[in-house]
Amino acid sequence: MSTATGAPARGLRGRLAPTPTGLLHVGHARTFALAASRAAGAGLVLRIEDLDGPRCRAEFIAAVLVDLRWLGLEWTEGPDVGGPHAPYRQSERTAWFLDIWRRLETAGAIYPSPHSRRDVEEAATAPHESVADDADPIFPPALRPARRERAGAPGGVPWRFRVPDGRVITFDDALQGRVSRTAGVDFGDFVVWRRDDLPAYELAVVADDHAMGILEVVRGADLLTSTARQILLGEALGWPAPRWCHADLVCDAAGRRLAKRTGGLAIADLRERGFTPPDVLTRPVAELAGG
Ligand code: GLU
Repeated sequence: MSTATGAPARGLRGRLAPTPTGLLHVGHARTFALAASRAAGAGLVLRIEDLDGPRCRAEFIAAVLVDLRWLGLEWTEGPDVGGPHAPYRQSERTAWFLDIWRRLETAGAIYPSPHSRRDVEEAATAPHESVADDADPIFPPALRPARRERAGAPGGVPWRFRVPDGRVITFDDALQGRVSRTAGVDFGDFVVWRRDDLPAYELAVVADDHAMGILEVVRGADLLTSTARQILLGEALGWPAPRWCHADLVCDAAGRRLAKRTGGLAIADLRERGFTPPDVLTRPVAELAGG
């Protein structure tokens, strides 16, 4: 692969894929900086994952752009409003996701599953020994439908991907080394289409990483089990898998991972308190906390 100037690319085409349901924090900053450096010279897509209806807010999308620019992270494609880059917002790509739903349905890889999360929790016979990064209850195979019914549209019911029980999915991660997850043990049949007629996260990510030519997925280690799901989805669609690079999660001073409540560790808060981009990217979290 080479760049437009003919110089050899140093990186692998990658992406930044924030969900605009809150402010970005130190963990996002560090993962995104890693993604940008690993994609250097090879293209970096900015994709706003705004499928979650009212929880995704315009002000958070605006804040993502401000934060990324302040950090000096440059994307080569994405929602650069008024700029040269093509806008990628998942909320505008539902026709593509529906096409993928159709391919999976035709292949018999997915099935309609009206069960709620509570049904699943109640039907699970043994307590789920969840792997550290994933708290989803395992879908009991007994709740799979007895026969396959064809459908022309998702039809207001969740759809699940049927996992190959007992199969070990192994991948080599650039930072975590060799990672394995067992289908039916570490995760069960998972939702690919939601009751509110939107694609679920796993389907949308796999569909877009493929469509956008992503060669390396860089993201937080909370998604390692999702990677096993996404490998199965990609296989069912006949697509080559990207490479994987999962960054360790940043924790606050009390050892809890940063989430939407950022406790002053939002990039916007740190900027306001006078920290610089290198501070945010490199200083120990304990020095950034408080204030
Ligand atoms: N949008 C997801 C998030 O913000 C990340 C998805 C991914 O990188 O695959 O948690």
